[in-house]
Amino acid sequence: MGCEIFLHLFLIIMEKTLVILKPCCLQRGLIGEVIHRFERKGLQLCGIKMTWLTDELLAEHYAHLAAKPFFKRIKDSMMVTPVIVCCWKGLDAVEVVRSMAGPTNGRQAPPGTIRGDYSMSVQENIVHTSDSVETAAIELARFFSDDEIFEFDQHKFDFLYANDEL
Ligand code: UDP
Ligand code: MG
Repeated sequence: MGCEIFLHLFLIIMEKTLVILKPCCLQRGLIGEVIHRFERKGLQLCGIKMTWLTDELLAEHYAHLAAKPFFKRIKDSMMVTPVIVCCWKGLDAVEVVRSMAGPTNGRQAPPGTIRGDYSMSVQENIVHTSDSVETAAIELARFFSDDEIFEFDQHKFDFLYANDEL
């Protein structure tokens, strides 16, 4: 029974979030750097693939920017090369990943963040990260099928979290 409660809490609390390594990340040879940061932080990689994005998919993904004059420009910028989509899992993963990416504008993003360390641009800002738990669920379903997200034990788990955090 105790074990069941623990498992139940574990499933509820652990979040998954989407990261897209943008074409600028691939072209600048930063894939390893960016993935390494999330790994070292203690996030668990649950899904990863290289894929070409389409205008249709990007129109959905960037629907909140549809009225902006740069809508076509950002969609086009995401189709110049394939991208790498990743699913990262952990406690508060959505917020943790987003804070590691930093603010949208790379010139204003603080040093220590991915955008702050690797980007001089608003558009060419290396990564996309989901902005809320609700958005993350929608975005993961947009870019991954169920069988592309993997559930497996993270063996260093006991060294990442305290009992009372779970
Ligand atoms: N973007 C842009 N100009 C802007 C705002 C956004 O080129 O004035 C691009 C930028 O690449 C950004 C993406 O559109 O990452 C999505 O914008 P959003 O506001 O969702 O920023 P994010 O969540 O990526 O920080
Ligand atoms: Mg956004």
